[in-house]
Amino acid sequence: MGRIAYVNGRYTPHAEAAVHIEDRGYQLADAVYEVWAVFDGKLADAEGHFARLSRSLGELRVPEPMSRAALTVVLREVLRRNRIRNGMVYLQVSRGVAPRDHAFPTAPVSPAVVVTAKAVDPAAAEAKAAKGVAVITTPENRWGRCDIKTVGLLPNVLAKQAAKERGAAEAWFVDEMGLVTEGASSNAWILDRDGVLRTRDTNANILRGVTRLTLMDVIREAGLTVSEKPFSPAEAIEAKEAFITGAGSLVLPVVAVDGKPVGEGVPGPVAKRLRALYIERAKNTAV
Ligand code: PLP
Repeated sequence: MGRIAYVNGRYTPHAEAAVHIEDRGYQLADAVYEVWAVFDGKLADAEGHFARLSRSLGELRVPEPMSRAALTVVLREVLRRNRIRNGMVYLQVSRGVAPRDHAFPTAPVSPAVVVTAKAVDPAAAEAKAAKGVAVITTPENRWGRCDIKTVGLLPNVLAKQAAKERGAAEAWFVDEMGLVTEGASSNAWILDRDGVLRTRDTNANILRGVTRLTLMDVIREAGLTVSEKPFSPAEAIEAKEAFITGAGSLVLPVVAVDGKPVGEGVPGPVAKRLRALYIERAKNTAV
């Protein structure tokens, strides 16, 4: 059975799925997206991702393409048709198709909706987490509205490629104050020397990670201390542990920053425990 994508009301073979050349997402990055982790065929942190999607659409003044219930049906149907039990489902909503012009189309257009899904082998993901990943740092060069989850990801693409070329899995952006904002596709965390779990505050120009927010709850429930206090790359290297969070990475230990080991240079016990706790919570609350 081949892969299936959803494009504007149709379930289509993935290889043939296409959008119009004047889709504003394609031409102008005038589009937003969401990614849900999938456990046992169900959407993890469903509510948080739907809420952020509504917010992103609102910031762009793009109407909701369909109700949340209808969207849930589509996301689940793409998962079902692709027989995905564990993995990720991707949703993109663009302003729609219109003759190319920077300003919004004057005639009303319908938002364009694309959904794709991919399987992830849980054993392979656990093996990656057990090894941990390296990150590099790179100067923050993105626009001022990283709180909106738009498909305009060129700085993230270039940062991720730079990471890959240096044998790392993620790039952390560092702002003009010398503090880490977030990763190219994840939020950044450390367990500092005082045993406090730290991640950047959302007043900064970062995406309000859904995994980040859920993990804050998990941390408090586990009796650990969390602080939205930023950190520098040097503090990360001196930290006991570091990790990243996201719908793709879940909670993934970081073992090196810019080639220098974090802690013992292996995944730390707290990051490993938080990964297990997060996955347990995500599975139990998935819908
Ligand atoms: N920051 C950026 C730039 C991202 O692209 C992502 C996820 O793709 C995240 C953070 C993590 O967000 P979430 O936990 O909602 O997946």
